Amino acid sequence: AVPLVVAVSTAISASRGLLIRNRAAFERARNLQAIIFDKTGTLTKGEFGVTDVVVFDESIQIDELVDLAGSVESHSEHPIAKAISNKAAKKLPVQDFKAIPGKGAYGMVDGRKVMVVSPGYLKQENITINNDTVSELFEQGKTVVFVLINDRLHGAIALADEIRPESFEAIRSLKKMGIKTMMLTGDNKQVARWVSEELGLDQYFAEVLPDQKALKVKEVQAQGLIVAMTGDGVNDAPALATADVGIAIGAGTDVAVETADVVLVNSNPLDVVAIISLAKATYRKMI
Ligand code: ADP
Ligand code: MG
Repeated sequence: AVPLVVAVSTAISASRGLLIRNRAAFERARNLQAIIFDKTGTLTKGEFGVTDVVVFDESIQIDELVDLAGSVESHSEHPIAKAISNKAAKKLPVQDFKAIPGKGAYGMVDGRKVMVVSPGYLKQENITINNDTVSELFEQGKTVVFVLINDRLHGAIALADEIRPESFEAIRSLKKMGIKTMMLTGDNKQVARWVSEELGLDQYFAEVLPDQKALKVKEVQAQGLIVAMTGDGVNDAPALATADVGIAIGAGTDVAVETADVVLVNSNPLDVVAIISLAKATYRKMI
């Protein structure tokens, strides 16, 4: 039988959009020592806009670069892809579209192999970037992706996202509770540092590939900490499953929601604080 206070708490929380799917995890939430947030879509809005486009040589015009990239990205669900796709004036047919999880997108357009990829992907392929404008864009804390045509680097597209206004208070409250605040992202180090400094996070991990997210959670657990993970993406599901408390942002993907112990329907980081406070109040009453 479910103790009455727990049943009442579960009902109250559900009416506020906090869905408890795993009661044992909810109980663990009262003793949390660290919480790891995914960046994009969790601490930030996940609504990117294109701010700059750079071409690296005269063989291609900015408009053509954006059309090729945007055509491929119109087949991707990623928030970065949506922004680039919106920017394209015309969409060309794409064959063989493939998402490269945590790294980018691929497709054949007009007989050309077009890829839109992360800085991490370029590093992995030993492609070096030598462009002052791109360095500046990184310094500005922008998300920068690169366009390869037939395996040659032709340009870069910079994007900006916004920190959710509620994230500031959420982080302040968690720190007051003595909980370590951390962020995990596949995005570049400069963006991660900027968001981390703005919010006053204790730690961040940048350029983390999808299959490494769960490993990062294990590393923090290995420090002897009880850890929650909060995320929204398909990429976050293994990390949510590994954490002592997996929290999905409700507007995220079905996979994340199905893996999580707790679902925050309103996609509000302040609800993370609410669920921890509720766990503390619930199990205090029982002792
Ligand atoms: P996060 O961990 O912040 O949610 P992801 O793991 O989804 O980010 O993506 C990590 C990085 O991979 C992005 O910052 C971007 O550089 C690149 N990326 C992923 N998907 C795409 C795409 N469709 N188009 C361009 N870049 C992408
Ligand atoms: Mg994400």
